[in-house]
Amino acid sequence: MTIFKKIIDREIPADIVYEDDLALAFRDVSPQAPVHVLVIPKEEIARVGDASREQSALLGHLLWVAAEVARQEGIAGSGYRVVTNNGRDGGQSVDHLHLHVLGGRPMGWPPG
Ligand code: AMP
Repeated sequence: MTIFKKIIDREIPADIVYEDDLALAFRDVSPQAPVHVLVIPKEEIARVGDASREQSALLGHLLWVAAEVARQEGIAGSGYRVVTNNGRDGGQSVDHLHLHVLGGRPMGWPPG
């Protein structure tokens, strides 16, 4: 079981900023920007590359939640980044699909 599943199950605390029947969003414990929120599906999918075609609507919903969180956090106008790390070279450290929503400062490109 991943740490994110424990957050879904309320076994460990998190600063939750959005929740619906399909998704949960909470603040990253190690924020890399003034706003750094993680959006996760309640369903256990390890990474975006593991999602099935049947889960494609859920993937779309997660993107909508990311945009909704950005509106809630007041960064929709200034801009923000939505990113998902997939696997080892992608820099993924928690094997439960998550979108990082980062904003409140200018983002560099390309990422290191
Ligand atoms: P990634 O490296 O893309 O897998 O991102 C995992 C993210 O989860 C990192 O940014 C961590 O800081 C964050 N993280 C790990 N444990 C927790 C936790 N208990 N609550 C909130 N964020 C966490």
